[in-house]
Amino acid sequence: MTSDVLSTKELSKIDPVFGQLSFDNHEQIVFCNDKDTGLKAIIGIHNTVLGPALGGTRMWNYNNEWEALNDVLRLSRGMTFKSAITGLNLGGGKAVIIGDAKTQKTPELMRKFGEFVHSLSGRYITAEDVGMNTEDMDIVREVTPYVTGISESKGGAGNPSPITAYGVFMGMKAAAKFKYGNDILEDKSVFVQGIGHVGESLVEHLTNEGAKVTIADINRERLEEVRSKYDVTIYEGQDIYSEPMDIYAPCALGATINDDTIHKLRANIIAGAANNQLADEVRHGKLLQDKNILYAPDFLINAGGIINVYAELENYDRQEIIRKTENIYNTTLEILERAKVNNEATNVAAMSIAKERIETRKRELQK
Ligand code: NAD
Repeated sequence: MTSDVLSTKELSKIDPVFGQLSFDNHEQIVFCNDKDTGLKAIIGIHNTVLGPALGGTRMWNYNNEWEALNDVLRLSRGMTFKSAITGLNLGGGKAVIIGDAKTQKTPELMRKFGEFVHSLSGRYITAEDVGMNTEDMDIVREVTPYVTGISESKGGAGNPSPITAYGVFMGMKAAAKFKYGNDILEDKSVFVQGIGHVGESLVEHLTNEGAKVTIADINRERLEEVRSKYDVTIYEGQDIYSEPMDIYAPCALGATINDDTIHKLRANIIAGAANNQLADEVRHGKLLQDKNILYAPDFLINAGGIINVYAELENYDRQEIIRKTENIYNTTLEILERAKVNNEATNVAAMSIAKERIETRKRELQK
């Protein structure tokens, strides 16, 4: 090659966006760049049939831009189905900011990001995700109304994590009801992997009910802190996946159910908060079904957070948030039943219901 301009032939070999494995007919993908603040962000709008695309912004030190693109594509798609199955009039979207939240996040960068969000005129509404907090959303709010998860003092619904944990707890109880015939978690052994904002709150519900809780985290300080507050055991072994347990609750990062772990798993139930728990939805969902491990789909049971931020848009109160979150119990049971009747993986059953809702709405809009 004599110049750094690629020929048409060379360019034709590259499918940078639409050819991505995680691309799933996303409606719009916006690349945001600002030299002055150092902002490099990608906003993914997967689907807006049910309403504006709502989903948090994640700031993460990705190894490269492909990784960031892949993440935003996967996460925004997940939001479409999460809102659809929860009965919210929202589409699916998500944003990622490339960089280290501890060292590179500045008010100027957040404001600039807010301006990009604003330029989409409400097709995308942001919120917090990993690397973000309520104060960051307050800064975004200075330049756009298209943001949720702002401070309670500014009219927001505040930290969504306790509600997320409550929804996960409801989903876990429904899974127990389905598996054991009753939803009492007393004396059930539950491994909570990741005891951050959601994990700790889940531990509180579980220990209140008398479950035998084991906690695991890469952060030793957190482990000691949580043990000092609740009746739990710290996992000191080397391979959590091989441990016999009633319930595995992944509450750290995604893709912990993968080719390396799935064959070792000895849990009866998987129910946790982490997004995208299955590294490969199709294969791993089916393998769990074959192994008779009951999987409560992540996007169904971790919807408490989005219910909480949706309240800001719809102006409903705390009681309604709790009622909608408790309904995760019924929806989970409904989906587990459907999966059994149709002899299909539980994540497939959940996805089918979500897709049906979107298709029905699409037909209504076309009338
Ligand atoms: P967090 O950052 O507060 O906590 C994550 C915890 O996991 C941390 O304590 C971290 O040390 C630990 N961790 C990271 N890697 C680990 C590993 N390999 N093994 C064990 N522990 C590990 O995050 P959070 O807000 O509690 O969210 C937890 C998960 O739930 C995330 O996947 C998030 O996307 C998902 N989720 C959160 C919400 C919410 O409302 N916060 C809503 C929906 C989904």
